[in-house]
Amino acid sequence: MDPAIYFSIAFLTSLCIIWLCLQLFGLATHVWGPIERWLRRHIILPQVLDGQYLFNPTRIEVICYVLHWTCMVVFNTYKVSNEREAASRAAYATIAHLLPLVCSGQLSFVSYSFGISGSVGLSFHEAFGWMAAVQGAVHSIIELQDKGHWTVQTKAGLVALCSLLALSCLPFARSLAYEIFLVTHQLLVITFALALWLHVQPLNNIVRRLCFIALLLFIATSCYRYARQIYGNFVPIRKRMRLIEIEEVRKQDDSLILGLHLPRSWRIRPGQHLYLTVLVFRSGSILQRHPFTVTWWNASQEPRMYLMIRAQRGWTKSILDRPDLLKSRKVWLDGPYGMPVCLENYGTVILFASGDGIFAQLPCLKAVTEACKISRARTRRIKLIWLTNEFNEQLREWIQTILDDEDLHPDLLDLCIHEPNTQMSSKVESRGRRVKIVHDVPNVRRYLQSELNHPETEIAVTGESRHNHYSAIADEIVSAYPVLRQSVRNEVLKINKFQMRLFELDYQPNDKDQYDSGISA
Ligand SMILES: Cc1cc2nc3c(=O)[nH]c(=O)nc-3n(C[C@H](O)[C@H](O)[C@H](O)COP(=O)(O)OP(=O)(O)OC[C@H]3O[C@@H](n4cnc5c(N)ncnc54)[C@H](O)[C@@H]3O)c2cc1C
Repeated sequence: MDPAIYFSIAFLTSLCIIWLCLQLFGLATHVWGPIERWLRRHIILPQVLDGQYLFNPTRIEVICYVLHWTCMVVFNTYKVSNEREAASRAAYATIAHLLPLVCSGQLSFVSYSFGISGSVGLSFHEAFGWMAAVQGAVHSIIELQDKGHWTVQTKAGLVALCSLLALSCLPFARSLAYEIFLVTHQLLVITFALALWLHVQPLNNIVRRLCFIALLLFIATSCYRYARQIYGNFVPIRKRMRLIEIEEVRKQDDSLILGLHLPRSWRIRPGQHLYLTVLVFRSGSILQRHPFTVTWWNASQEPRMYLMIRAQRGWTKSILDRPDLLKSRKVWLDGPYGMPVCLENYGTVILFASGDGIFAQLPCLKAVTEACKISRARTRRIKLIWLTNEFNEQLREWIQTILDDEDLHPDLLDLCIHEPNTQMSSKVESRGRRVKIVHDVPNVRRYLQSELNHPETEIAVTGESRHNHYSAIADEIVSAYPVLRQSVRNEVLKINKFQMRLFELDYQPNDKDQYDSGISA
């Protein structure tokens, strides 16, 4: 049999195995708790280096990288007798790594479909992309050595390689200029696909067939994705099918609050986000597509969801300057995406947020308190620790709604707001029974210890960083700047005595403050 067929089978089988492992891991959470906890504590959560580094993978990532590269080295060299064979193996490997990237279309959609978080999906995407680029380079170097003349096929191959290498370097531009990154990424992918098609045209082997299958899968997943979007966006409003529109726009400091009709067919759970496009031509809004968390919702007769949008440098800034542009405008939503976070099964839930991280934590808080009210939660204690230098009026109102809810047990909820920038004579001020304002940064260790000493403790921790969501016998949620996230991660890993689970949310606010030690309240 053609080695390419072996390889394709092996490759598809390994994809199925990864998927199966993910499913089994999900099952293990319920069936075989101790193993799952051990894996989390020793393999999944710990990073290789202590501290903040640009590249600081977790142990599981290192294991996956080593396995992946070893398998590929074996594939590239095993029973390879001449250069021709080596080049063709590298070509197969390139195609095989590109297949899942091409057929999937959109990353959030694939991550969601595979039941993994956006950050894990991104890691896979990058690892496959890099391997494809390396294999493509190996293939070209060998092939170019014995090329007498430059055919169209050779030139197309070179264009494909250049696009692939450019694609691999592009992620560095993502945080600097996202829109440029996105457009360049799409243009390069199209160039690459066309060049590759020309390059493989004269061949009549599995590579060409695989490219064709990838194209078909891309069309199929795109059709499904758009059909899902059309179904979600056309909703019955006043007995007619209409697009969702912005019903409320409020500007507060440098944030906008958008109130949208919440279609009943949408089920957005805490931890999930959606992509928003405002259908207005000015400021190029119609071409912009940005992810936002549903921070609040009203499940009344006229159900509404609310998005909090903090102005950054690009589109979000341009709409902050012209909020009138948004009122009554139609929007196009795509989602929900991201892994839902279910905290109701934990005895204690500790939520760590800093700055805008509260946008993603508030839905978790709302969901778990609502579940408590209807006795659908095992949660006995919830503690929200929020490091912030501003207290947005709208957020204050929403949090107050939860605090004022008389159906909640008085001891259920505790709120500690850390405002390190305001200097007062006393470091801790009480505002009512449940709220404390602390004029210092939070001391994560003391917070965790005091909750763990509590008799009813079973903790989950959630955080926003790529590597920083934990859960424990008490439940903890982190949605915070990197330093706070790192601190929560380290402290959770140090606590061996208790089962603890840390959740990593997809939304990570930008780093603004640094802190160390601090106090707890
Ligand atoms: C899962 C998730 C949930 C989010 N939830 C919220 C929220 O509830 N409220 C909120 O204010 N912000 C949220 N954000 C951040 C928000 O998406 C960005 O602030 C916004 O897209 C910036 O747009 P801009 O054109 O002004 O960006 P720029 O000023 O150009 O860039 C600012 C930062 O945003 C990133 N960014 C820009 N566009 C996108 C995009 N389309 N997709 C992903 N990242 C992008 C850039 O890489 C950069 O790091 C969330 C982000 C993610 C990933």
